[in-house]
Amino acid sequence: MYTALAGGVGAARFLSGLVRVVPAPAVTVVVNTADDDIFHGLHVSPDLDTITYTLGGAEHPEQGWGLQGETFAMIDALARYGRPTWFRLGDKDMATHLYRSERLAEGATLSTITGEIAEAWGVSPRLIPMSDDPIATRITVIRPDGTTEELPMQQWFVRERAEPPVTSVRFAGAEAAAPAPGVIEALEAADTILVCPSNPVISIGPILAVPGVRDALVRRRDRVVGVSPIIAGRPVKGPADRLMAGLGLDVSCVGVARAYAEFCGTLVIDAGDAHRCTEVEAVGVRAVVADTLMTDAGVAAALARHTLDAVA
Ligand code: GDP
Ligand code: CA
Repeated sequence: MYTALAGGVGAARFLSGLVRVVPAPAVTVVVNTADDDIFHGLHVSPDLDTITYTLGGAEHPEQGWGLQGETFAMIDALARYGRPTWFRLGDKDMATHLYRSERLAEGATLSTITGEIAEAWGVSPRLIPMSDDPIATRITVIRPDGTTEELPMQQWFVRERAEPPVTSVRFAGAEAAAPAPGVIEALEAADTILVCPSNPVISIGPILAVPGVRDALVRRRDRVVGVSPIIAGRPVKGPADRLMAGLGLDVSCVGVARAYAEFCGTLVIDAGDAHRCTEVEAVGVRAVVADTLMTDAGVAAALARHTLDAVA
């Protein structure tokens, strides 16, 4: 049994490698839902959809979100009514959000619906949202005039292109939320717990903020292995550098190790960062070196193998 903590694209790439080296039904994936938001009345779960579409073999190859071969007629048609269209939702992708929203309105839980959507895409690992309760990442930024403003995550990241400098991040609703059914059990039952190469602040951070999750990980620290999403002082994709720097974390595999040290016994870092092993180990985390840039499915599979072997 393997349990993985996952955000979106970095996790999706890693998981597509993992299912090539272990039986997919032995994998449970706990997915961040703090990027979820309502657009045009529909409940959008970006990280769940990225993981589902990638494991279903239907993801857009370069973009990191959405489906391959998408068209955008519906979202563009909404512009006629003056609706904001900066959050691009594809026509086929829209079916997922319609389905999810309708099922939620019928009273189904997000975890039930996530299982239904995964099954429809032929995804065999078990996907669970971190919580069935709403949790929303809020990012406080500084404006050029020195004032601060708190923004919903997608507004900062997509609409404002992650440009405004960040001073703090919070996960609204987390204190009152419960882990989704099966989350704690999957952490307790796993032989190995994998922290995917995902954004430490806004993908892994919200999962850790769900009451009970961090404690469950701390108890299993020796069985927890992470993969650094930071290679040579830079994220492969996305705004992890701007967020980590804003929160005072060193933008490096050492900063990731420091952020994870309490609950993660081993961290896989990139071969190009091998010279930083002693710094990682100085914060109490065992460092294992591998090629971590997942340029294709073969590299992702080799990385997954290395990651499992690191705690074998
Ligand atoms: P998002 O919601 O799509 O941003 O999802 P994630 O948090 O899972 O993914 C973003 C993180 O994945 C970034 O911090 C990237 O640096 C990391 N990432 C993406 N591709 C790779 C890769 O090939 N190797 C590693 N080590 N990290 C990656
Ligand atoms: Ca995300």
